[in-house]
Amino acid sequence: MSVGQEVRDLLGEIRRQLLFREEIDLDAPYVSPEGYAYLEAEFQPERPSGGENLRCKSLDELKRLVDSCDRCKLSKTRNTMVFGEGPHHAKLVFIGEAPGVDEDLAGRPFVGAAGKLLNDIIKAMGLERDEVYICNVVKCHPPRNRDPEHDEIEMCLPFLRAQLSFIKPEVICTIGRVSAQSLINKDFRITRDRGQWYTFMDIPVMPTYHPAYLLRYPQAKRQVWDDVQEIMKRMGLANPRRVKN
Ligand code: URA
Repeated sequence: MSVGQEVRDLLGEIRRQLLFREEIDLDAPYVSPEGYAYLEAEFQPERPSGGENLRCKSLDELKRLVDSCDRCKLSKTRNTMVFGEGPHHAKLVFIGEAPGVDEDLAGRPFVGAAGKLLNDIIKAMGLERDEVYICNVVKCHPPRNRDPEHDEIEMCLPFLRAQLSFIKPEVICTIGRVSAQSLINKDFRITRDRGQWYTFMDIPVMPTYHPAYLLRYPQAKRQVWDDVQEIMKRMGLANPRRVKN
């Protein structure tokens, strides 16, 4: 690995730790305004994107295009591009941040431990996993499970936009901080801002905690349950079963 890449990874990890401490309401170590500006600058996109016409006629065609994507550095380290899965006209789409190690090997989203918990959440909503669409903001696994970097998100977002314009879901549920920040607002704070309705491409969006967070903090299941009940109300789904603590 190049020295430049090591420095980028290190800065990404520092940023992740700072944001994580903030999220769980611990005092973050002091970082000067210049320091923050420097960290932010590391995450500026290298090329503009969004609103581009990908000229695909179907979700399958889009998948074939993304399969050979080399727009960002993750294409060099991924095993498999993880496009997403589910009915092409699903009413509900779950959007995570990026594939983990298990997903990178399987080529499918949310198949590891966090995926099992997501399956339980879907079941508790009275739905089956194959009735919803599941994908990520970033389609390739970031090495060592680091957060996807700003340029990687920017390069991949047009694919997500195209994906959603084919699926046309009634509701999106973003899972975790990174996907909410990518779709709603870069200053989104999951503990402060989840549980309310937002929109992305005119589609209602409900942000909730990532199942990986629930594995560490099971007490947050109550809030996730509140959030998914909002989704169920909006979609007219009845008879929920609660996610067990
Ligand atoms: N975490 C995510 O955000 N996405 C996956 O697909 C798996 C774990």
